[in-house]
Amino acid sequence: MALIVQKYGGTSVGDIERIKNVARRALATRKQGHDVVLVVSAMAGETNRLLNLVAQITDRPNEREQDVIVATGEQVSIGLVSLAIQAQRGKATSFLGHQCRILTDSAFSKARIKSIDSERIFSVLKNGHIAVIAGFQGVDENGNVTTLGRGGSDTTAVAIAAALKADACEIYTDVDGVYTTDPNVCAAARKLDRISYEEMLELASLGAKVLQIRSVELAMKYKVPLWVKSSFSDDPGTLVCEEDKSMEDVVVSGIAYDRNEAKLSIRGVPDVPGVAAKIFGALDAKNIVVDMIVQTVSKEGKTDVTFTVGKSDFVKAKDVLKKVVRSIKAEGMDADENVAKVSIVGVGMRNHSGVAARMFRVLAAEGVNLQAISTSEIKVSALIDPKYVELAVRALHSEFGLDARPSGSAAAG
Ligand code: ADP
Ligand code: ASP
Ligand code: MG
Repeated sequence: MALIVQKYGGTSVGDIERIKNVARRALATRKQGHDVVLVVSAMAGETNRLLNLVAQITDRPNEREQDVIVATGEQVSIGLVSLAIQAQRGKATSFLGHQCRILTDSAFSKARIKSIDSERIFSVLKNGHIAVIAGFQGVDENGNVTTLGRGGSDTTAVAIAAALKADACEIYTDVDGVYTTDPNVCAAARKLDRISYEEMLELASLGAKVLQIRSVELAMKYKVPLWVKSSFSDDPGTLVCEEDKSMEDVVVSGIAYDRNEAKLSIRGVPDVPGVAAKIFGALDAKNIVVDMIVQTVSKEGKTDVTFTVGKSDFVKAKDVLKKVVRSIKAEGMDADENVAKVSIVGVGMRNHSGVAARMFRVLAAEGVNLQAISTSEIKVSALIDPKYVELAVRALHSEFGLDARPSGSAAAG
């Protein structure tokens, strides 16, 4: 008998029929003799609907109140899933974040989990119940409702699996595993049987929303066997696991894109020590995560500093920068929400040179201009005009030999 955590995303609980399907699948696992903990998301579209209500009132919401609102989507789902299990003659108990004390810090809208009361969950499992836990939400030390950032239910699931020392954490979604790139953008994308934690971490941080980045970090840290599967099929899915030798033979294992970034530039920054610390320190003080950073060569003692932030932090970042521009006596700032990032990822890049050059050649041949570049040991990213995203993803997917082979040949893992 094993303990299995299953997470069902928004589309998997998108309507009542699908909720009944989740109940059936959970009960089938239970009938095999396993203890089952479910983590569920809000019904498809619900979190966006709630955020849209907020946006109709203000574009600078109080983040505590915004979390109170967006956390409600998951409350409805856990109630409905529990009822569906009971209607199929199973036993289920639902839990909101605070009811099984998913304790987080107080960084509203991007809180991090600190601990979970596993006793509360074990006590219902002992009585033969399926525990149905609200994803995405927690509670801070002062009893405030917090949320974990978009896609945060993945992180709830892995954190619970780690806290309960579960035998597996299965993320059920609308595709049957992790692909070489988003299968909804590139028809030639191939499903991977396995992917290393590190590559998955990069893909997730570069925009592949199939897993939230923090969920992969936790899975890697606590060695949680993490599966991505479809709630609509019995495909074995993709296992996210430790890297092995065979993975290094593949130079590029995946392509990711992200339309959720925005670009900010400060013009005419005095080129003196301590200025970068002031700019990025001010953003950090407001919990704004900065991604790509480019600084131009100094001319007459001045440089331009360009960087990207998540779109959800754009308004906040602009407010911070307006003050910074004044305090460091820069000439001004520009803000552009119309950018996207494409990236290539692969642990095999460590042993191959010229990969970045090949990427830039392909993008140049397609007429795509690069606005910023960033690299690490196992990835190369470029900031481009969003209208070229699909074109860039498909061209890179083909260039790096990732396109699906004719059916009948083996899929690479
Ligand atoms: P859920 O609501 O179940 O959490 P998400 O929409 O958050 O589902 O994540 C699943 C989506 O991730 C897929 O529908 C797909 O469009 C997208 N995706 C992006 N990159 C990848 C990838 N490399 N492999 C699989 N899916 C991907
Ligand atoms: N409902 C939240 C979102 O849409 C969390 C999740 O689905 O993982 O981002
Ligand atoms: Mg998701």
